[in-house]
Amino acid sequence: MPRFKQTAEILKLMSKKENIRNIGIIAHIDHGKTTMTDSLLAGAGLLSPSVVGEAKVLDYLEEEQKRGITIKTANISLLHETKENAHVINLIDTPGHVDFTGKVTRALRAIDSAIVVVDAVEEIMAQTETVTRQALEERVKPVLFINKVDRLIKELKLTPEKIQEKFTRIISNFNNLIEIYAEPEFKKKWKVDPAKETVALGSALHKWGFTLNVAQQKGVKFTDIVNAYANDDYPTLSRLLPLHHTILHMIVEKTPNPTDAQKYRLPKIWKGKIDSEIGQAMLECDDKGPTVMCITNAQIDPKTGLVASGRVFSGSVKEGDHVYLVGAKKAYHVQQVSMYMGAFRETVDQITAGNIAALSNLELARAGETLVDAAYKDVMVPFEHVKYVSEPVMTIAIEPKNPKELPRLVEAMNRLVIEDPNLATIMDKETGQCLLSGIGELHLEIALKFLKQYSENIELTASSPIVTYRESILKTSKIVMAKTSNMRNKLFVRVAPLETELEELMEKGELTDGMEQKQISDVVQKKLKYSKEETAKILALNKHGNILIDLTGNVQNMQEIKENVIAGFHWACDTGPLCEEPLRNVKVTLIEAQIHDDPTQREPTQIMRAMSRAILGAVLTAKPVLLEPIYKIEVSAPIEWFGACTSIITRKRGKILTSEHKGVLTIITSYIPVAETLGLSAEMRTATSGRAFWQCTFSHWERVPENMATQIIMQIRERRGLPPEIPKPEKFVEKE
Ligand code: GDP
Repeated sequence: MPRFKQTAEILKLMSKKENIRNIGIIAHIDHGKTTMTDSLLAGAGLLSPSVVGEAKVLDYLEEEQKRGITIKTANISLLHETKENAHVINLIDTPGHVDFTGKVTRALRAIDSAIVVVDAVEEIMAQTETVTRQALEERVKPVLFINKVDRLIKELKLTPEKIQEKFTRIISNFNNLIEIYAEPEFKKKWKVDPAKETVALGSALHKWGFTLNVAQQKGVKFTDIVNAYANDDYPTLSRLLPLHHTILHMIVEKTPNPTDAQKYRLPKIWKGKIDSEIGQAMLECDDKGPTVMCITNAQIDPKTGLVASGRVFSGSVKEGDHVYLVGAKKAYHVQQVSMYMGAFRETVDQITAGNIAALSNLELARAGETLVDAAYKDVMVPFEHVKYVSEPVMTIAIEPKNPKELPRLVEAMNRLVIEDPNLATIMDKETGQCLLSGIGELHLEIALKFLKQYSENIELTASSPIVTYRESILKTSKIVMAKTSNMRNKLFVRVAPLETELEELMEKGELTDGMEQKQISDVVQKKLKYSKEETAKILALNKHGNILIDLTGNVQNMQEIKENVIAGFHWACDTGPLCEEPLRNVKVTLIEAQIHDDPTQREPTQIMRAMSRAILGAVLTAKPVLLEPIYKIEVSAPIEWFGACTSIITRKRGKILTSEHKGVLTIITSYIPVAETLGLSAEMRTATSGRAFWQCTFSHWERVPENMATQIIMQIRERRGLPPEIPKPEKFVEKE
């Protein structure tokens, strides 16, 4: 028996593709996404209208409720009925805080259009730009909702002319984003326009909203709205212009159904042959085609295990289906198919193409994975990687108070990393210390809360956050040689700074360490026009942005030790010679190798060690430097605090990029080293009486100023229990 009366109706509609919409709501934090979502749910009868703003169905995790930010991505299927017909609207919730941008990006794969919520007071902010750009890159069509219009009237008491000016500016700045980031064929088509009903205005808090057409139909003028507020009679507005009607109407009329959307989205997100059987089935959103699904979210349900949800692009998934995960290379029988209704899942018989499904017990499914009918496992080309740039630049060390609890902590850490791929963990089994790296202080703080919850409240001690650094090089090294400890094998290595083109491909996520050699060669050859011979020499990529090239040619037995050489390369990349921080942007070339004929004389760990030592020795002869992570920080504060904010930023080695006034606010955008942001909250609060708000996003790595580098290296070496002197190259390599 379904928990929601709508479920049966929704299931009936699922195969009528023209009546389906897959949408997301994206916004800068606090612009009102959650409040608006709740208004929609209330409109669809899932929440009684009086609890809107209190219950927050999609924010179902306790942690989210307390902090009022959306962290985890949840889905809900809504039934929207009008006199003429009914539609299923699959609403995918996306987190609003930048620390969770990776999750937003992955959710975009499942949707075809996005309502971008913009706060009328703050206007377009950094995160609005980021998420709109990401949506456009996935060919997700944006429509605009200008929220918090009540504040312009009630609090700021702007004249209608000033309000009109603001709307015009927001719309034109939004269209600028489309002009910049949309692909040529969508630039014109997707620009928003009040006359075309792709812009709505209103107040999510007071539950009213309108498009030009709706206002005209109802005979409402803007002065009526101003008057309603003057008379404190705004509840009338929600009766006259109910927000959910306006938004759901805009979705149904102005956003594409999955069949239409898959036609132009598919070539962008999938590089297989469109005229193949699978390609055609996806293009047509065909229920009868082979099952293909893109997993966009993995969560662990303590009762039932891993639940993977995502978009079905063709075919249908049913209990018992034999399916295959292309990335994990593993086949499963689907144990349960369900549909997300916010906090709940409703078990259903099947979910068809163009809809969002949740599947239980595919243990290895992760966001970004491609699922296909097992019969097609050998021919399926996986979906393109979902791109997002963020680096775990802050780390905390965690220990259970009682060492016996370590296995439970490790289990909880594993769960966290599955659910949030922006977290990284390293466990030191000897010391019992676990390191958890994330994007920023808030991200780690929340991860820690989840960790406690997932480990059923074991007592933990956590260090204060420390910043993660990188080691890199400024010039090409000498050729250095390392022998295996039995002296029977020799490896000759040179390192050089990586070409910027390769670096860019790795940063954009077009080249990743999980790729197979053939995929790497294809991308490099296509994007950089390297010859086949050159690309064939790329042996491996490392997740920190390093590359291994093999120039040994036809050296005997090379094939036998290849895997160990690659392992040695990754090993060196994880712990640089200056202070054991990871290497970055280093091109390692294996120039020559002398390998013993007798397999017993080329023991794998010895080869790995020799390779790693050769690399580290070479790095030390190539002007090694320390890199630090830099955030882009966007501060917004009332104009009178402008000076206080800029002086804090410059004092903290920040570089101001732009400052602009938006109404009563001033927005300062600048770069700031991550290391300088520890404790920033307290300083900023004191200096601006708590009136400044800011967001940091990872921007890039930059060389630590020379006068500071030595001291930082010493501090890290001390923390790691390393001797204070930076080793000489000879420590790693033997002289010939
Ligand atoms: P999110 O971070 O984008 O999900 O934003 P929320 O929906 O949590 O809203 C952030 C804050 O803005 C909350 O305090 C809301 O009550 C408030 N808010 C949301 N919409 C409106 C609105 O239309 N008018 C006013 N005055 N406040 C709003």
